[in-house]
Amino acid sequence: MKEHRIALIPGDGIGTEVVPAACRVLDAVAARHGIALAYDTFDWSCERYLAEGAMMPADGLDLIRGHDAILLGAVGYPGVPDHVSLWGLLIPIRRGFQQYVNLRPIRVFEGVPSPLREARPGDVDFVVVRENVEGEYGEIGGRLYRGLPEETAVQEAVFTRKGVTRVVDHAFELAAGRSGRLTSATKSNGIVHTMPFWDELVAERGALHPGVTWDQEHIDALAAKFVLDPGRFDVVVASNLFGDILSDLAAAIAGSIGIAPAANLNPERDFPSMFEPVHGSAPDIAGRGMANPLGAIWSAAMMLDHLGHPEAAGAVTDAIGTLLSTTRLRTPDLGGTATTAEFTAGLIDLL
Ligand code: ATP
Ligand code: MG
Repeated sequence: MKEHRIALIPGDGIGTEVVPAACRVLDAVAARHGIALAYDTFDWSCERYLAEGAMMPADGLDLIRGHDAILLGAVGYPGVPDHVSLWGLLIPIRRGFQQYVNLRPIRVFEGVPSPLREARPGDVDFVVVRENVEGEYGEIGGRLYRGLPEETAVQEAVFTRKGVTRVVDHAFELAAGRSGRLTSATKSNGIVHTMPFWDELVAERGALHPGVTWDQEHIDALAAKFVLDPGRFDVVVASNLFGDILSDLAAAIAGSIGIAPAANLNPERDFPSMFEPVHGSAPDIAGRGMANPLGAIWSAAMMLDHLGHPEAAGAVTDAIGTLLSTTRLRTPDLGGTATTAEFTAGLIDLL
């Protein structure tokens, strides 16, 4: 039995509560499915930054390069600017390990009310595929005439044929394995160089995937459709910025940010992929044992799938569905009084 080595980065705040919960679930499901997992824990975090001046050691990427996957909790700390955790940890890992696909599944579960009356349980089940390493989040640009009336900021978005093609292909393949529908989000009427290029590449790759019906929408119209008719989507592919916005919107539609999972994938498996809940460190509830662990647990299930154990992954997501639809066990964000530990134990019982 091949042992999978997992790098755990619990991070800050509730990250340090939900990652251990996810590991308890992983251990339970691994025992049942004959999967061997070994963990190495890294204290990379904003707390480390405050103590030592860096989120992670200078050779951090080398320390986890050989692992099979990374499970991250959340990074962020009151008083530490977001760009420190972003540029000190998340972006170096995503870019350094070519995790160019950011996958965010959205599901409205029975038993979790969505803020949208249009979002019926079972009906809303789609995936946002976000380009994760280029696009609008490029570093090229700068500020001119600082402090003068003419002060100007310029920032370039960089889209490459290779970068767009590979994420679009991934989305087409994902759609082919689901219900065969793909929606691409751009804004080609307003952004006249990069977005038409994206559209052209989608059309080019679409011709190679005849089994998938695809269309393209302007991001503004698409945002409205997410709210008015979320059940119509299956796989949605978008650039780095648009995908970021759409996936947060979609997580809100699902009823609680505490449930939403994410995967940062390196599909070629040249480097480890990273799995993390969508939520942040939630300093307002940290340390009180009341965080919803489902986002981290579902992310861990995506990790099992990536490691070649789709049955074990399915067992975890099925148990999440059963827990929510057949029991009253709930953490406070879902209107209950259960602690993180009680909620996790309830899920493990169902496994
Ligand atoms: P960060 O700076 O790390 O992004 P944040 O406070 O900006 O943290 P989140 O951590 O995502 O953003 O929190 C947003 C809100 O959602 C907070 O009120 C938080 O308590 C709540 N929340 C986030 N995750 C969970 C969770 N797993 N369980 C319960 N509540 C959560
Ligand atoms: Mg935040």
